[in-house]
Amino acid sequence: ATAPPLLEVEGVSAGYGAVQALNTVSLQVQPGEIVTLIGANGAGKSTLLMTICGQPRPRAGRIRLGGEDITGQPTHAIMRRGVAQSPEGRRIFPRMTVRENLLMGAEALSKEDPAPQMAQACRLFPRLQERLWQRGGTLSGGEQQMLAIGRALMSKPRLLLLDEPSLGLAPLVVRQIFDAIRQLNAETGLTVLLVEQNANLALRLAHRAYVLVNGRITMEGSGRALLARPEIRDAYLGGG
Ligand code: ATP
Repeated sequence: ATAPPLLEVEGVSAGYGAVQALNTVSLQVQPGEIVTLIGANGAGKSTLLMTICGQPRPRAGRIRLGGEDITGQPTHAIMRRGVAQSPEGRRIFPRMTVRENLLMGAEALSKEDPAPQMAQACRLFPRLQERLWQRGGTLSGGEQQMLAIGRALMSKPRLLLLDEPSLGLAPLVVRQIFDAIRQLNAETGLTVLLVEQNANLALRLAHRAYVLVNGRITMEGSGRALLARPEIRDAYLGGG
């Protein structure tokens, strides 16, 4: 038998009160893949990542991790099974140092020594190494994004969820962060599901991609194939 997908979202609908943000969404992420989900503002991208993390709970459909059903489980249980998220807006702890922020991400490791994960995060983002004793709130936007990703890595996840890592950052910093994600995936085989409005960069980084429009998946394919589609160029890449 072939191995199950690392992540399988099957017919998932979810929302908030009267708002239906996701409508029968299905997607798979294979072990070792970088998959991106692109879509306009309000398409439901963040809601999908949050639903995978257990909140909001799906109204319909199933979510499986490595073949095991995690639908409706509480967030902490899903985290313990190896899912880590770097949320939109980063949500670092501004009064804690970089080091303390990183250690917060290691909570799920319980008694394990966090030092190797700390070393990995600092290798990936040398800026963090230089600033371990600086307060999170005084970091630049790009450094805060690095910290949010580094913190997610501290729990040794099987699946890393990234919500708009490029948001509000200068192009050079965005490039550094995307290079780090590519390097991490190539060196460790870490599986990544990335949500982005910067479709151009995300499609270049990802092995495969899905397009979300008004809570529904409308297209899927290799990053390269989607980059070449005229309707993608017109809608998400500013034409050209
Ligand atoms: P963006 O790129 O702007 O973050 P998105 O694709 O991530 O957009 P979501 O944040 O998932 O989209 O929002 C999907 C829909 O759900 C939107 O219509 C939004 O207004 C609505 N929504 C999101 N969060 C809530 C909430 N907590 N309560 C009510 N409605 C919400």
